Amino acid sequence: MVDSCANPRCSKPLHYLRDGRIFIFDVASARLGPDGRPVRHVEHYWLCGTCATSMVVDCCPEAGISVQAKPVGRSVTQGMSVA
Ligand SMILES: [Zn+2]
Repeated sequence: MVDSCANPRCSKPLHYLRDGRIFIFDVASARLGPDGRPVRHVEHYWLCGTCATSMVVDCCPEAGISVQAKPVGRSVTQGMSVA
């Protein structure tokens, strides 16, 4: 259960889902299931409104879950027209 901001430097308590952004990841655990394959489960992370403006939660197989600076440039080019 998500109860606070995923940014360890913030940790603002979660009161309203309309504030901020939810990140959902399908992750494989180290535990193996009966079929010999890693057991998968869904993890939820939340960034508060302040942190969500400049950060994202990322998931990669090597490093796991991490809070990183939001990539710059994606939203800047959106909606621009080329003359
Ligand atoms: Zn926060």
